Amino acid sequence: MTYRCSVCEELHDDLPDICFDKPDPWWGIPAEERDARIELTADTCIIDEEEYFIRGVLEIPILGYPESFGFGVWVSQKRENFYTYLKHPDSAAIGPFFGWLCTEMSFYEPSTWLLKTEAYFPGGSERPRIRLEPNGHPLALDQRQGMTLAKAWEIVHYYLDPPH
Ligand SMILES: [Zn+2]
Repeated sequence: MTYRCSVCEELHDDLPDICFDKPDPWWGIPAEERDARIELTADTCIIDEEEYFIRGVLEIPILGYPESFGFGVWVSQKRENFYTYLKHPDSAAIGPFFGWLCTEMSFYEPSTWLLKTEAYFPGGSERPRIRLEPNGHPLALDQRQGMTLAKAWEIVHYYLDPPH
C-alpha cells in the first residue's frame, strides 16, 4: 500500500518496525566490562546473572490500515519467568508475564522507562507481544486507540534518519 509521506514527501511502501537491539541497562555497564557481565542474544539479555530481559514487539494499530506498527522493545522479567520462556520459547502455553519496559523511546514524553507491561507469548517462532498497562501515557494510549499512518512514518523518520 503506497503512501505519500507528510514528513519527506516521498512515496513509501511497507512500514518498517523500529527495533532496539539491546535493553537500555546494557548501556549502563562500562564498555570494558560488558563481555564479562552481559549475555546478549537477539531475544534475551542477562546482566550479572541477576537482571533478566526479553525482547518483544509492542504493536500499535494503524487507523484505517491493515497492518500494525511494531516497536521491538525490551522488558525485564523475573528470573523464574525468564527461564520458563528460555525453556519453552515456542510455547503459547506460558505467560502472560509482568515486566518493566526497559527501552526509553525518546519520541515519547514523558519517559517510557519502566512503564508496566505484560508479555504475551503467541508461540511458534513469533516474538513475545508486549502490552502496556492501560494507563494515560501517550504510548499506552496509542497502543489502545491506534495511531495515524502519518504519525507512524513520523516516528520511523525520527529513528531512522540521521542524526538520531
Ligand atoms: Zn517519509
